[in-house]
Amino acid sequence: MSTEKTHKGKCFCGAVEFTVTGEPAAMGYCHCSSCREWSAGPVNAFTLWPPDKVKVTKGVANIGVYHRTDNSLRKWCKTCGGHLFTDHPGWKLTDVYAAIIPSVQFEPALHVNYQETVLPMKDGLPQQKDVPKEMGGSGELLRE
Ligand SMILES: [Zn+2]
Ligand SMILES: [Zn+2]
Repeated sequence: MSTEKTHKGKCFCGAVEFTVTGEPAAMGYCHCSSCREWSAGPVNAFTLWPPDKVKVTKGVANIGVYHRTDNSLRKWCKTCGGHLFTDHPGWKLTDVYAAIIPSVQFEPALHVNYQETVLPMKDGLPQQKDVPKEMGGSGELLRE
């Protein structure tokens, strides 16, 4: 649709540029150990998009990919090491890290994989033990 807004993002050095269009399917924080170990940060602020709404506009050959599981293809810039996306083929969604698309208003709706947290965040948002039922998880909420 022509009314959909397009936002620009780029890696740390700018060798890779991309756009996202429209509204994310979901936004929140992931507390899983995979996100933590890969990002070297305590939580991952995610925005999930249908893959066809994410377009690499520069430096596609500069994108590296690593996957420990088949449902998380983690991508980064080969020049600066800056993280870009995680493709989740099983969910048909791409996680674009909220930090690299600053013009998208980050409005987190939930915490996922909260059972693995090392940084409890008491902001009143639902704390999914793992992930919601519709994404193949238990849908169980943790309460503090
Ligand atoms: Zn880069
Ligand atoms: Zn995670």
